[in-house]
Amino acid sequence: MISPVGELSAEVIGAVAGEIKQVFGFSTETSPILQDLSFALDDNRNQYHSTAILDRLAANIPPHAVRVLAIAQVDLFIPILTHVYGEAQLGGAACIVSTFRLNEGRSGINISPKYIDRIVKEAIHELGHTFNLRHCPEHTCIMLIMLQDEIKRLS
Ligand SMILES: [Zn+2]
Repeated sequence: MISPVGELSAEVIGAVAGEIKQVFGFSTETSPILQDLSFALDDNRNQYHSTAILDRLAANIPPHAVRVLAIAQVDLFIPILTHVYGEAQLGGAACIVSTFRLNEGRSGINISPKYIDRIVKEAIHELGHTFNLRHCPEHTCIMLIMLQDEIKRLS
């Protein structure tokens, strides 16, 4: 289940849904589970704690959904990092990605294929973690490609 938080373009949802079908073989439905993320807002950082969001998501998954992927547009963090592009419960049911830092300051209206591609990759990456995939040493593996991207962006 794809769970947009706030407004998300149909183009992005469609691209993510298509790739999920391709990679995992699952059909997806789109349903907003969380609308208000204020419970996860850290006032000092002005960012949202992704682990808190995952806990809330996992507690509210509809029974028929195998996994829930939230797509948020706010800036996410975990306490040990300045920000994260997404987070997943390893082997769990919930994961989240944020479009916030993938858009390079462009508005949501001006959607480039590159931007959509990044969101799709990040979504597959986080979903992979919910299926117990870890970052692997195979250089063509999407888990590693995304990790390298993460490191590049962080450094
Ligand atoms: Zn990862």
